[in-house]
Amino acid sequence: HSGFIAIIGRPNVGKSTFMNRVIGEKIAIMSDKPQTTRNKIQGVLTTDDAQYVFIDTPGVHKPKHRLGDFMVQSAVNTLNEVDVIMFMVNADEGYGKGDEYIIERLKQVQNPVVLVINKIDEVHPDELLPMIDTYRQKLDFDDIVPISALEGNNTDELLTVLGRHL
Ligand code: GDP
Ligand code: MG
Repeated sequence: HSGFIAIIGRPNVGKSTFMNRVIGEKIAIMSDKPQTTRNKIQGVLTTDDAQYVFIDTPGVHKPKHRLGDFMVQSAVNTLNEVDVIMFMVNADEGYGKGDEYIIERLKQVQNPVVLVINKIDEVHPDELLPMIDTYRQKLDFDDIVPISALEGNNTDELLTVLGRHL
């Protein structure tokens, strides 16, 4: 298995922390494909099971001005070209307007979406199931994986789930 994973999510949900956790010093930028500044290859992870090429997709946010519309469209195009989308949210904050905006964009996308609920180290386990239900009602996610990128909880399971879509 080998393929492209777009990472999306509001600022500060933990995208960079996750990248550092799974790729760390093994980070390798190696692609002969042209890259735009909007969608950078963040790193490549090779395990016994799969090769994961992670793409940063920062444009999927509510635009502050009209030029932003172009960036959003460009990001949505990227989401349609990868193999799987990893949509990260913050368990500490739960569902909110920022997530809602991204979910609206995801409705234009055919590719599988894995919802990653990060920062589970910050919430009581009882809060997790209702939160999962809330998100599940917003979009038909292909998988939902709670993790702590900071502590490394369940990140191996997330890689396994992503690998199934590559
Ligand atoms: P990004 O903007 O999505 O790339 O978010 P960052 O990776 O920069 O993380 C934003 C903040 O959240 C930093 O202070 C991280 O240390 C913190 N953070 C990231 N992941 C976790 C987590 O799993 N648990 C906790 N408690 N904090 C986290
Ligand atoms: Mg970041």
